[in-house]
Amino acid sequence: MPDVKEFATGAKPTWCPGCGNYGMWEALKRALAQLGWDKREFAVVWGIGCHGNGADFLDVQGMHALHGRALPPATALRLTRPDLHVIVEMGDGDGYGLGMGHFIHTLRRNPDLTVIAHNNQIYGLTAGQASPTTDHLTRTVSTPTGVLEEPVNPIGLALAEGTTFIARGFAGDIPHLTQLYVQALSHKGLALVDVFQPCVSWNHHNTLQWFRERVYKLEDTDWDSTNRVAAFELSLSTFHDLTCSPETCRVPIGVYYSESGVPTYEDGVAASQQPGWKRAEEPQDVSGIAASLG
Ligand code: SF4
Repeated sequence: MPDVKEFATGAKPTWCPGCGNYGMWEALKRALAQLGWDKREFAVVWGIGCHGNGADFLDVQGMHALHGRALPPATALRLTRPDLHVIVEMGDGDGYGLGMGHFIHTLRRNPDLTVIAHNNQIYGLTAGQASPTTDHLTRTVSTPTGVLEEPVNPIGLALAEGTTFIARGFAGDIPHLTQLYVQALSHKGLALVDVFQPCVSWNHHNTLQWFRERVYKLEDTDWDSTNRVAAFELSLSTFHDLTCSPETCRVPIGVYYSESGVPTYEDGVAASQQPGWKRAEEPQDVSGIAASLG
């Protein structure tokens, strides 16, 4: 098994002391070491944000994409290099804001990617603007009277679009997050791991302590991760606002939903290249429609 240290470049991370990126960085290194993959067997594509600076600290092959645009090159990489495991690291503002269109359509395709979302519910790198997942009524530098919108629900969106592995992690529990990563990286098809990650500099509401008082593990319950409808209901329960107390507001972490045996986008593309490939329907005669238009 490779040593965790093999995945560190040696560069000193520039993240703020106490940032959740440290826990996520450590968990990914441990998961990669546990899987025992050779560095030539996988690649990482980063979006833009504080998390994206991890490209300088993780000693792997990969690329740093444009803001919100990590998913398209990652999908292209999987199609052209099917021998590689491809991991995407994106932020909440990055992937659920600027990249929301790419996010939704990538979910629909089920490419064999592991997508790790650094969800700190704020724009950290650009100094504290509200992101798509900032809690309702939170005051930020861009929302001085509080966020009026409901936060984006990435788990619910992923369930609606047929994502075949969906999990939520917490950057403050590295051993648990490591095991979620191992499961996601071992899954064939799109695996989304949305990770709650405190931003100590700009999000003074959803702190490490705030999460520690609220998270619980699904595997400690009788949770059935094959029940898609129940998973959707559970995803709705994780919405919260500034008034939610540890008693009334519980945050489930673990595998919400998992489904195996679903063809991937790469499977579909390969099948469509075969000589015997037929369209679902033969082309229709549209001459009548054209004539009716004069
Ligand atoms: Fe982490 Fe926030 Fe600092 Fe960025 S600004 S490094 S997300 S604590």
